[in-house]
Amino acid sequence: MRIGIPAETRPGETRVAATPETVKKLAGKHQLIVQAGAGMAASIPDDAYVAAGATVGSAADAYGAEIVLKVRAPDQGERALMKPGAVLIGMLNPFDAQNIAVMASAGLSAFALEAVPRITRAQSMDVLSSQANIAGYKAVMVAANTYQRFMPMLMTAAGTVKAARVLIMGVGVAGLQAIATAKRLGAVIEASDVRPPVKEQVESLGAKFIDVPFLTDEEKEIAQGVGGYARPMPADWMRRQAELVHERAKLADIVITTALIPGRKAPVLIAEETVQAMKPGSVIVDLAVEQGGNCPLSELGKTVVKHGVHIVGEPNLACHVAADASALYARNVLDFLKLIIDKEDKLTIDQGDEIIKATLVAHGGDILRK
Ligand code: NAD
Repeated sequence: MRIGIPAETRPGETRVAATPETVKKLAGKHQLIVQAGAGMAASIPDDAYVAAGATVGSAADAYGAEIVLKVRAPDQGERALMKPGAVLIGMLNPFDAQNIAVMASAGLSAFALEAVPRITRAQSMDVLSSQANIAGYKAVMVAANTYQRFMPMLMTAAGTVKAARVLIMGVGVAGLQAIATAKRLGAVIEASDVRPPVKEQVESLGAKFIDVPFLTDEEKEIAQGVGGYARPMPADWMRRQAELVHERAKLADIVITTALIPGRKAPVLIAEETVQAMKPGSVIVDLAVEQGGNCPLSELGKTVVKHGVHIVGEPNLACHVAADASALYARNVLDFLKLIIDKEDKLTIDQGDEIIKATLVAHGGDILRK
């Protein structure tokens, strides 16, 4: 089969959907066509793909393949290069009904990898986890870079420097990695989440959990989330959380927010009054900025100073770790490919498979998910 790896063209996108490592694993049985320069932003020269067994070609060559591997959904012009019946695999945004409709009408079989279910068998294909892990790490790096003081406690001949106090809001994959990274840098960490099992994970990393007690059975039930994801909490719980967070944020030097609710606007966790109460020179990194932000003062793609607080609204931090982000993403994609390529190396889309069913958003002209 012909498998194409086009270059990503979305502004700021540095990743690539296949690396020489994954190309090498496929090249014996399939024809791999990499668009010239596709790996450049992730420091992968064309020569490395050729050495792994791929050929290098134009965008039309890569998009003309039977299976196209992407990071982001192709734009209209790129989609027009694809053949009806071709398979498209990438982070296609399963909540973007319009784009899915367009892919369906183009006759593509499109797989949105963000929709991989949270089951053990799918862990190696979980692109949200592999990229969130990187974003959590990089958020701490960006915060440390913006912060005008040390992270660790230091005792020097010129006096003692206090350790930075870091507050992490939302402890999923990104939040846990942010805790671990800030811990390695010597910070003192507190964290908050709605899901009760998180408390133990936070404490096992040496951070303190900010407990917002549940006062009703309804609150307790909603906090369990669904399929590993959080659900929007009742307004009363959110108010109590905001009060506690306000007090903790006043003491914090760095706040990293990661709270997301799939398919919805991100919850507001750091209100303007809280930013106003924070110390001058403190830093907020809002990882939810693309979903509207956990802080209403964050601005997409910018670092702004509001009430003396530096607020970083950089989207897609994984793109700033392009080489490893691509390496992990490409392995996720390779594992996913094994689901749709059978033992005879033929394309087989088994809609009875739980992972295929969850990720297949367009097939045979039909929209399979809205
Ligand atoms: P996410 O990116 O969807 O959200 C980030 C975090 O924000 C979550 O922990 C969520 O509970 C939290 N959040 C939402 N609303 C909040 C609020 N109002 N206040 C505070 N926090 C709030 O989360 P994620 O990284 O996808 O991880 C969610 C869970 O799923 C984690 O426990 C993770 O380990 C688990 N997971 C399991 C698998 C698997 O089993 N295969 C794969 C990936 C993740």
